[in-house]
Amino acid sequence: MSLPSEIDVAIIGAGAAGLGAAHALKNSGLSVITLEARDRVGGRGYTVMAAPNLPFDVGCGWLHSADKNSFVKIAEQLNFEIDKTRPPWREQSFDAGFPLNERIDFMAALEAFYDRAEQAATHGSDSPASAYLEPGNRWNPMIDAISTYANGSEVDRVSVQDLDAYEDTGINWRVRRGYGALMAAYGAHLPIALNCEVNLIDHSGARVRIETSQGSLVASQVIITVPTSLIASEAIRFHPALPAKVDAAAGLPLGLADKVMLVLDEPSGLPKDGNLRGATMRTAMGSFHLRPFGQACIEGYFGGRFARQLEDAGNGALAAQAIDEIVALLGSDFRRRLKPLAESRWAHDPFARGSYSHALPGHAAKRAVLAAPVDGRLFFAGEATSPNFFSTAHGARDSGERAAKEAIHCK
Ligand SMILES: Cc1cc2nc3c(=O)[nH]c(=O)nc-3n(C[C@H](O)[C@H](O)[C@H](O)COP(=O)(O)OP(=O)(O)OC[C@H]3O[C@@H](n4cnc5c(N)ncnc54)[C@H](O)[C@@H]3O)c2cc1C
Repeated sequence: MSLPSEIDVAIIGAGAAGLGAAHALKNSGLSVITLEARDRVGGRGYTVMAAPNLPFDVGCGWLHSADKNSFVKIAEQLNFEIDKTRPPWREQSFDAGFPLNERIDFMAALEAFYDRAEQAATHGSDSPASAYLEPGNRWNPMIDAISTYANGSEVDRVSVQDLDAYEDTGINWRVRRGYGALMAAYGAHLPIALNCEVNLIDHSGARVRIETSQGSLVASQVIITVPTSLIASEAIRFHPALPAKVDAAAGLPLGLADKVMLVLDEPSGLPKDGNLRGATMRTAMGSFHLRPFGQACIEGYFGGRFARQLEDAGNGALAAQAIDEIVALLGSDFRRRLKPLAESRWAHDPFARGSYSHALPGHAAKRAVLAAPVDGRLFFAGEATSPNFFSTAHGARDSGERAAKEAIHCK
């Protein structure tokens, strides 16, 4: 839709948070527009058809904490089938390179690490989570690998308070047609200006002036939902400047996680919803979901510094690494049977610049600083502002709803 010259509430960003805010304002009597830099809604929630009948969630895929996840009800309302198969993350299909007794030993080491981290957080420490690895424990590199998937970062850059604050009910479901497709449906029929990149939010006057790639408009209130990477780097600027927000965003950087989708020839020999860790005893490795929903494909996941290295190596590097790791575990026949279909590049995406936020050591309190409204006119949402469901799509959506309620309250 075209840009109005004046509006009551402008929402910046049409990801989960922006859409949550827009829905919460629907019956408020206020005029609302969402300004989105991309040519689509959903942000880090994005489903593509990697092949006919093969949806691939380039970003979020799992309804984490499904029993508390507000997207579950939305999926039901919009007739999106939910799959409740348990995630296979703790398994290793065929025991390939990682037999059951070793997995049990590893899980014990991982749980002991989480227990030490929780204890430290309870006693007020906000040191790097790496301080709670047991010195010399042989599983430390793998614990770090798990952190690269969960936090997008190795434990040396993760605040132990933040690690402890994250709420995980352990129930994880999936949307059969894709989480990104669900977000696109959730965002349909809302007033959204696409291809509209916001550069400046000028709150020096009586009303807020917003400069965009499609011209400017004035708003009474603004809800900002863009990723922390863009606030910290001042890709989106405020006038007068908001140094506390820039500092908070810098303390909550986006870690990196990237996905790759491989099509699988002759799938019948592999289990439906199986799992492989690409290696043991090291951090730089992928994790592979075999035949998700029984489909003829494998979805790979890489995180942290290794994901960055693979992205920087250029298109196809994630797929090549994934195939090498799978071949090493299952045999050379898989080199012929696997073909790359699609892969993500979230660090190089100009409107994300990463995957999901984690707090740096000493910065766990910055989530509340980022979330706090300014002058009853600027409101902040997005996954990084969620106190307990940060880094997730439902945390983002709920934060948008929270910011919309704050805006209505300040009217
Ligand atoms: C690989 C990967 C896997 C993930 N897996 C899961 C998972 O399984 N489950 C889960 O719950 N979460 C997962 N996540 C995280 C989840 O996708 C995000 O936390 C959530 O989608 C973030 O929503 P948001 O609204 O805060 O931000 P975004 O989705 O980033 O939305 C912000 C919007 O702002 C727009 N924007 C940016 N700059 C501007 C500008 N200057 N002007 C206008 N618009 C702008 C962006 O284009 C974007 O649409 C994953 C993410 C990735 C990348």
